[in-house]
Amino acid sequence: MQPAISYGDRRIEYTISTNAELRERVRIHVHPNGTVEVETPLGKTDKEIAIAVLKRARWIDSNLRQFERLREHSLPRQYVSGETHFYLGRRYQLKVIGGVHGSSSVRMKAGQIQVQLPCPDPAAVKRRLNEWYKSRAKLYLQDRLCQIAADISWVDVPPPIKLAKMKTQWGSCSPAGHVYLNPMLIKAPRECIDYVIVHELCHLQEHNHSKRFYALLHKELPTWKHIKAKLDGMAELLLSE
Ligand SMILES: [Zn+2]
Repeated sequence: MQPAISYGDRRIEYTISTNAELRERVRIHVHPNGTVEVETPLGKTDKEIAIAVLKRARWIDSNLRQFERLREHSLPRQYVSGETHFYLGRRYQLKVIGGVHGSSSVRMKAGQIQVQLPCPDPAAVKRRLNEWYKSRAKLYLQDRLCQIAADISWVDVPPPIKLAKMKTQWGSCSPAGHVYLNPMLIKAPRECIDYVIVHELCHLQEHNHSKRFYALLHKELPTWKHIKAKLDGMAELLLSE
């Protein structure tokens, strides 16, 4: 059974992973999908871990509440003003501005993503916003891939990326060496984007998920497991339209 503590009427279940780099204190992560991960130094007993989790229970509870509220709000989206939308891992409020003649625009201003459209019905807002995400993704992802590739010994010429909308995947790499990235990745935190790019670049060398592949990934990005857990936790939130 999964370890758990009680806080008020909430039962907080958590998973434990050991991290040899930690000295004394445990590190607690609350992921947006409601899972709680406890990283502990070597040699902690279950009881010591439970006490450490209890000490942070209030903080864990408030994070869980926040993510629960967010999930309620974000599914399904209405594409109306006031809604939360993501960009590079940060939350922005959508503001829909109608009645403008001529062309449409999307811009970021004062914590908002402002969509301006002659006729701002939700379907049109959704289309325009997704177009904007795609154009941003194209620039940001290619640029980031070039920066990351420069530090990776086996990549001589950074491969061109192709954007491909995928329902459950963030990226893929073809045997011919084409890297496909999901444009919705632009909604994820920067470190998660970097992880997906490094993962796909490792596939240029190792085309499967073999031991050698993971050794390579670990060498390039030792913290990849933690970043992947974070991205997995946000996937539903970021991929939902
Ligand atoms: Zn892969």
